Amino acid sequence: MDVRKQFHVTENLGDEMRIELDLGKCAGHGVCALEAPEIFDIDDESGLAVLRTERPEGREAAVNTAVRGCPERAITIA
Ligand code: SF4
Repeated sequence: MDVRKQFHVTENLGDEMRIELDLGKCAGHGVCALEAPEIFDIDDESGLAVLRTERPEGREAAVNTAVRGCPERAITIA
């Protein structure tokens, strides 16, 4: 079993937006880190996306752009 599929990251953006990052789908393209570098980064060891901040208020538009740009549809907003 691919151990990446065991990880599922959820991050709250204030009280209004929750980012869900499915590392089982993430292929490390890095589009998210290009679109919203203050929120997403690529982990040096795993090569997969990670969330950089717990308080990215005011960056909802950048998060939405990253969601739309992710080729694997690994980022969702709840
Ligand atoms: S754009 Fe999607 S697949 Fe690429 S690193 Fe970001 S979350 Fe992973």
